Amino acid sequence: MIYYSTNKSTPAVTLKEAVVKGLAADKGLFMPEKINKFDKDFLENMDKLSFREIAFETARKFFSEDVPDDKLKEIVYDTLPFDCPVVKVKDNIYSLELFHGPTLAFKDIGARFMARLLNYFLSGNDEVVNVLVATSGDTGSAVANGFLNVPGIRVFVLYPKGKVTAIQESQFTTLGQNITALEVDGVFDDCQRLVKRAFLDEEINKRMMLTSANSINVARFMPQAFYYVNGVARLKKLGVKGERVVVSVPSGNFGNLTAGLIAREMGLPVEQFLAANNANDVVYEYLQTGVYNPRNSVETIANAMDVGDPSNFARILDLFGHSHERISEVIKGYHYSDDEIKATIKKVYKDTGYLCDPHGACGFQALEDHLQDGQAGLFLETAHPAKFIETVESVIGKDILHIPGKLKAFMEGEKKSIPMANDYGKFREFLLNA
Ligand SMILES: *Cc1c(COP(=O)(O)O)cnc(C)c1O
Repeated sequence: MIYYSTNKSTPAVTLKEAVVKGLAADKGLFMPEKINKFDKDFLENMDKLSFREIAFETARKFFSEDVPDDKLKEIVYDTLPFDCPVVKVKDNIYSLELFHGPTLAFKDIGARFMARLLNYFLSGNDEVVNVLVATSGDTGSAVANGFLNVPGIRVFVLYPKGKVTAIQESQFTTLGQNITALEVDGVFDDCQRLVKRAFLDEEINKRMMLTSANSINVARFMPQAFYYVNGVARLKKLGVKGERVVVSVPSGNFGNLTAGLIAREMGLPVEQFLAANNANDVVYEYLQTGVYNPRNSVETIANAMDVGDPSNFARILDLFGHSHERISEVIKGYHYSDDEIKATIKKVYKDTGYLCDPHGACGFQALEDHLQDGQAGLFLETAHPAKFIETVESVIGKDILHIPGKLKAFMEGEKKSIPMANDYGKFREFLLNA
């Protein structure tokens, strides 16, 4: 399959090139030239398949021209040793739990798939690929754990000293092996600047192969379609049959929602998507007015959605031929303040016993505000509530009963990170000698 740039001013590339490069030469985002449809038979019978089987069928629609079936199956099955189950929360509202992976957030799925696909493309030669990732918390942990011990790949995580939570920090500083954590004396934007400069540094790029692993990478965003298909299949199994399905997506950079739109293009029966924002609501505004007005992000308690200019919005525009009318037909926008998010966590816990994290709470609330008779709602629970323990406990007023063992193990590990000045010369020297 060929991948073109959303800016359309550079030639289309192969899957391998799209994965290794991340961003197109004209700074656009790569999109698949064609979105293959699911067979009718598959859609009718998917409730009888396992998550892994569903994921493999979906992956074949994307990647079968580029990766042989036996290898693709191995990559998919290896990516998903855990489930993404659907849990009933109340009446017609269900949670698609995406937090059963190693770092307890949905980014595990894309990161693990990308690591294995990259490894497949590199195997057979001795090249080592260096993944540089700047993180404000969650991306670093998913990428570091996704790429842990994958041969031929080294990961450098740059994070701002003192600006990530202890739980987040423990998830990428305690791994060792092929993962190096660099504690930068600066803020997140400084980390991002160091990484971006390295990508543009000709000398470094001659000496070492560099790539990025954020949601602009096609190998990270497309596999997210797997769990949308699984979500609809599981709903069917739970007896949701006649109802029309509405899927609500807590959104920041919009990689997750874009993958859902792709699954719908493939024929997945989803009537409506809800884009649930926190106070960072430029897309909400676009959906209301047709005007896209990016601005600086503001801090909220759902901090993985604190994005002021979502990168994947370019993909949504491209998918719908830049038509505001079509986009706002398929996607309805909702936005919530920190106080509203807290109120939702509290209410859902009190009424149903289900504990949402601050991101999932936005997704839940959007369904409550939107659903009409004859519709069933599925919200993406994008992280385990224990990852946001302080916020969640302050709201429900008692200890979260259960901190998953995986999270505890990270917190007990030994922190190893290398202090790094906020200085490109020093960072460059470090990379060249690494
Ligand atoms: C990254 C993230 C989001 C936002 O996902 P996008 O694909 O950037 O829209 C939502 N919730 C959690 C927990 C996240 O880590």
